[in-house]
Amino acid sequence: MIVEYYRPKDVSETLEIIKNPKIKMVLMGGGTAINRFSSESFAVVDLQDAGLNSLHEKGRILEIGATVTLQTLYENDNIPLNLKTSIYRERAQNLRQVATVAGTLVSSNGRSPFATAMLALDAALSLKPDDETISLGDLFPLREEILGSKLITKVAIPLNVQLAYEYVARTPADIPIVCASVAKWPSGRTRVVLGGFGDAPILALDGPESGGEEISAADAYRHAGDDWASAEYRQEMAKILVNRCLSKLEISK
Ligand SMILES: Cc1cc2nc3c(=O)[nH]c(=O)nc-3n(C[C@H](O)[C@H](O)[C@H](O)COP(=O)(O)OP(=O)(O)OC[C@H]3O[C@@H](n4cnc5c(N)ncnc54)[C@H](O)[C@@H]3O)c2cc1C
Repeated sequence: MIVEYYRPKDVSETLEIIKNPKIKMVLMGGGTAINRFSSESFAVVDLQDAGLNSLHEKGRILEIGATVTLQTLYENDNIPLNLKTSIYRERAQNLRQVATVAGTLVSSNGRSPFATAMLALDAALSLKPDDETISLGDLFPLREEILGSKLITKVAIPLNVQLAYEYVARTPADIPIVCASVAKWPSGRTRVVLGGFGDAPILALDGPESGGEEISAADAYRHAGDDWASAEYRQEMAKILVNRCLSKLEISK
């Protein structure tokens, strides 16, 4: 239950509020995850006026403010086409207009198409108050421990990569049972990420050049069994989906 509400006007006011909390204090992006029923009492710091909702291109990097909504990012013409696909698959339009980029990454699980694609892009998060930068891959396993009372101010992604995203689900609009995203840099660097299972998407491969993607994918999902699918099924599908991603990247060269 929300028992206190703050609406800071900028980042420094936000940091001041969260510095010495007397009760549990939760940063609020779109609030769509926070507003779910909870018997716990907590204060919220609503970030909607904190000035974190802009997009900046710096050379080959896109800096996405933490409170940029999924819909705003979806409508940006410069992001990789398949990042758009992953956003489209993440939530229906109503939720995309409210849910923020940071809030979605913090609250997503392994079945998130957007988190899968952002991990393939090796997204980097900027944190205050210590001005740290942390990769999404480092954040995922330790979200609560790392974030504590830290504020994500922006998320940076490269714009000079090719990105593919493929998935299988019960229906085309459902969240994936298995999904794969492959990012390829002009240098040849290739990252393969799998989603559809567990607490967070998994990095299967990050290599300086192509090669071994399917084997790495099957290996990464060797224990990926749950009520939705067996590990054997996910391994087979992961190989097929990664192969499809690689074919699409080859065609779009
Ligand atoms: C009808 C409905 C269906 C949903 N379906 C799904 C679903 O299928 N899968 C799913 O995963 N979720 C689902 N959700 C939950 C929610 O929509 C998503 O997780 C959403 O993308 C969260 O984004 P948000 O901006 O609303 O986050 P918020 O609710 O504002 O915050 C989520 C978390 O992120 C933290 N946070 C937010 N911004 C920052 C920041 N700048 N710095 C540090 N921490 C921050 C918050 O403290 C909180 O812990 C659903 C919600 C609704 C209402």
